[in-house]
Amino acid sequence: TVKARGGNGYALHTPELAVQAQERLRLETALRGALDAGEFQLHYQPQLDLASGRLFGVEALLRWQHPEFGHIPPQRFIPLAEETGLIVPIGDWVIARACRDLADWGAQGIAPPRVAVNLSARQFAQPQLFARVKALLEASGLPPGRLEVEITESLLMQDPEATVATLRAFVELGVSVSIDDFGTGYSSLSYLRRFPIHTLKIDRSFVIELGHDASDAAIVSAIIAMAHRLGLQVIAEGVETAAQRDFLAAEGCDAIQGYWLARPMPAAACAEWMRGHDAQAA
Ligand code: C2E
Ligand code: MG
Ligand code: MG
Ligand code: MG
Repeated sequence: TVKARGGNGYALHTPELAVQAQERLRLETALRGALDAGEFQLHYQPQLDLASGRLFGVEALLRWQHPEFGHIPPQRFIPLAEETGLIVPIGDWVIARACRDLADWGAQGIAPPRVAVNLSARQFAQPQLFARVKALLEASGLPPGRLEVEITESLLMQDPEATVATLRAFVELGVSVSIDDFGTGYSSLSYLRRFPIHTLKIDRSFVIELGHDASDAAIVSAIIAMAHRLGLQVIAEGVETAAQRDFLAAEGCDAIQGYWLARPMPAAACAEWMRGHDAQAA
């Protein structure tokens, strides 16, 4: 993480807010140069289809390694990228990289059914988002059906008309749509019938207490049942134990993602992981 460096002894007396503002500015400056400097990388985390034991897909997760600040976690820089608008070019890079990595894996005979990329509200505010994604798909040769976009509940609340139009265009192209961190955002469920959505991702905060907290178990069961009644698929995120996996399998959850299965890893390591998994599942 980025720490204020007070080598001159001044920092000790600098008001906390000024230090924070300074740090933020330093981080923002670094972020502006990160794309050109090639400091971003995508890691991939596998998702398991519980019924078949086969690979369900992979989620692409952005990593930023700065030469001076070291590894900066997404929770720190994604909000800043959103505020500054830098998420737009960075997001384009993510989609292009993910499509290319999938095409490269395909050439090695490794074909995960889908790759999920996270899209933020700021990207949806761009009228050109759909055209750009379409162009990036075409350039990579990846069939649109193998791309999934992850969006949050709050995005659906911000500009429903524009959002629904963009999502419809994605769906017509064959791209699928999932709701990330489901259950933590805006509480209205009416959007589930108004928006073209394929998958709900149950937030990690509900999964973590499975086996200890009866209400979390009830919420998870209810989300799975509701999703299936609506014709949606369900993935549970943050699955760390076999007990959590067993509970989710018994409740009919479609897929899981989490450290129990695998951590996010660089593309080459993920390719090896998938090769091993396929051999085991075949
Ligand atoms: P997310 O999309 O909900 O991604 C899941 C996060 O949970 C990832 O954190 C992943 O590493 C972590 N995770 C997965 N399994 C487990 C587990 O079993 N236990 C625990 N404790 N954590 C687990 P990560 O990679 O730090 O990303 C954090 C968030 O940053 C993501 O949450 C997503 O909202 C955002 N993000 C990451 N990459 C991108 C990107 O390319 N674009 C945008 N807009 N946002 C991104
Ligand atoms: Mg996600
Ligand atoms: Mg998530
Ligand atoms: Mg989450």
